[in-house]
Amino acid sequence: MEILRKSRREAQTAVLDDYPKTCASFSWDEAREWLDGLPDGGGLNIAHEAVDRHAFGETGERTAIHWLGKAGARREISYRELAALSSRFANVLDDLGVTHGAGVFLLAGRIPELYLAALGALKHGAVVTPLFSAFGPEPIATRMTLGEARVLVTTTSLYRRKVAAIRDQLPCLEHVLVVRDDDLEALPEGTQELGPLLDSASPDYVIPATDPEQPALLHFTSGTTGKPKGAVHVHQAVVAHHATARFALDLRAGDVFWCTADPGWVTGTSYGIIAPLSLGATLVIDEAEFDAERWYQILESEAVSVWYTAPTAVRMMMKGGSENARSRTYPSLRFIASVGEPLNPQAVHWGVEAFGLPIHDNWWQTETGGIMIANFASMAIRPGAMGKPLPGIEAAVLRRLPDGSVEPVDHHDDEGELALRVGWPSMFRGYLHEEARYRRCFVDDWYLTGDLARRDLDGYFWFVGRADDMIKSAGHLIGPFEVESALMEHPAVAEVGVIGKPDPMIGEIVKAFVSLKPGHEPSESLRRELLGFARQRLGPAVAPKEIDIQPSLPRTRSGKIMRRLLKARELGLPEGDTSTLETIR
Ligand code: AMP
Repeated sequence: MEILRKSRREAQTAVLDDYPKTCASFSWDEAREWLDGLPDGGGLNIAHEAVDRHAFGETGERTAIHWLGKAGARREISYRELAALSSRFANVLDDLGVTHGAGVFLLAGRIPELYLAALGALKHGAVVTPLFSAFGPEPIATRMTLGEARVLVTTTSLYRRKVAAIRDQLPCLEHVLVVRDDDLEALPEGTQELGPLLDSASPDYVIPATDPEQPALLHFTSGTTGKPKGAVHVHQAVVAHHATARFALDLRAGDVFWCTADPGWVTGTSYGIIAPLSLGATLVIDEAEFDAERWYQILESEAVSVWYTAPTAVRMMMKGGSENARSRTYPSLRFIASVGEPLNPQAVHWGVEAFGLPIHDNWWQTETGGIMIANFASMAIRPGAMGKPLPGIEAAVLRRLPDGSVEPVDHHDDEGELALRVGWPSMFRGYLHEEARYRRCFVDDWYLTGDLARRDLDGYFWFVGRADDMIKSAGHLIGPFEVESALMEHPAVAEVGVIGKPDPMIGEIVKAFVSLKPGHEPSESLRRELLGFARQRLGPAVAPKEIDIQPSLPRTRSGKIMRRLLKARELGLPEGDTSTLETIR
C-alpha cells in the first residue's frame, strides 16, 4: 500500500510525533486545561476563549482577522479590536432586550460583521446559527422557523431578495439588523441598521457566567426524510475545536490560517472562526467566491502558513494544472488539509507537485462538531485514506444486527458503519425538538455516523460512502427531501425523486426526476421552468442542476419513491443490485 513520507519542511512540525503515546496519555480534562475558563470560576464561554483572553498585552495587538473584500478592500482587526467590536454587539443585544438563549441567525457573505456578531452573540449567551447566504428563501424560512430565530443579522440586499417575502412566516423574529450593501437610501421596512447601533454601544462587556453545557451553536444539517435537523452544540465544544486544530491542522499561535469554508457550514464556524482564534492565530477571510488564480495569490501574498480547504476546490485548481501554482512561491505554507468529501489520491499528490506539500484529508460531520479522524502532520499519509482517530476519539467499524444491537465487523477491511465512542466535548447534544431522532443515532455508547467505512490493518480509516440517500455536492450535504418538497410545490408536478449523480468535479450533482399531473405535457420549456422554480426557492447551492421528466416514478409497496432505483437507472446499473451504489462515488 502506498505511503507518502513527509518532507523535511513538514517534519519540523511534528505535533503528535508519538501518536500511540499521546493517545494513551491524552484526556479531554487535560485539553480543558489548555483553555482559560471565565474569571472567578464563571464557567466556559467560546467567545472568551476565542477572543477576550487574547485581547490584552502583546497578543491584543496581533491581527485576529485579516479580511479581503471582493472588490479589493482590506481590513485588519486586532484581537483587542475584535474583543471590543464583539462586546459592542453583545451590548446591542442587551439594549434590544434579547434574552440569553435566544436564537441569533446570521445571513451574510463573509463580511467582518458576520464574525463580530457571531462572537458577540456567543458572549451574550445567545444561540448562534450562521446560514449560507446562497440559500434561497425556502431553506432560510425552514431553518429560521425551526430554530425560533429572534434576531437576524443580514445585509440590505439579502434581506430584500430573500427575507422580506417570508418575514410573515417568522413570527418569532423580533429584530433584523442590517449592514448596508446596496445604494438604496431607505432601509428595508422592519429593519435597523447595525453600524450605528454598534457605534453607540459600549465596547466593554462582562461575559455572564456560562455553563460549559449551555447551548452555543445550532447548525442545520440535512435529513433524508423530513425537515433539516438542528444539531445543538454547547460552549465546551471549544475544548475540542482547540485541541483538534492543534492535532489535525498543526495550528499554533501566530499562524496565518485560511479556512476556505463559509461559516454557513459547520467547518466555516468550528475552524473558520472558533478554533484558530482560540489558538491565537490570524484568520485570513476572503469575501470573494472561488477563483483559482486569486487563491494562489492569497496563499502567496498573505503568507498563509496553514490552509484548510475542500476536495472540490482542490479539483478545480487541479484542472488548471500545477504550472499556475508553481509560478508562485509559498515559503510560509507549512500544512494543507482538506475535508468534506473524499479526497482522491491524485489530489494528495497534486499538493506535492503544486506546493511541495501533500494534502491531508480529514473527516468529521456537523454532529461531531470537530475533526475526528485525520492524516495529521507527523504521520505518513496513505493517499485516499481519511487517516486515524485523533487522541481522545475512539472510532470503530460496526455492523448493525437485526435485534438493533451492534458489533464490530469480523475482519479488518470489512465495510461497516463508522461509529464513535461518545464523550468528546463537541459532540452534538441533540437535534432541536427531535429527541427520538437524536436517540436513534446511538446504540450502547456508540454514536453511529451514517457513513460507511473500513479500517485497514494499520488502523487507517477509508471512506466507503453514505449509508443513506444524502447528497454531497461541492462539499455541501443536501437532503433529497428538502429538494423534493420544493419541487412538489410547482402546480405541474405530481411526484419527485431526488438523487446525487456522480460528478468528477464536485462529487455529486443534485438531479431530480419528476412526473407530471394530468393535463401537463413534458417539454423543454417546462423542464427549464422547473429548474428556475427550484433555483429561485432553494438557491443555487441546493437546487437541482438536472431535471428529468418521466411518465411515472418507481415506488416501494408502501408508496415511497425508490431513490436508489432511480440512481441505479441513472448509472446504468442492474436494477436488482442497488447495494453497490454506496461505493460509487
Ligand atoms: P456535514 O455534516 O455537512 O459536514 O457532512 C458530513 C459528511 O460529509 C460526512 O458524514 C461524510 O459523509 C462526508 N465527509 C466529510 N469528510 C469527509 C472525508 N474526508 N471523506 C469522505 N467524506 C467525508
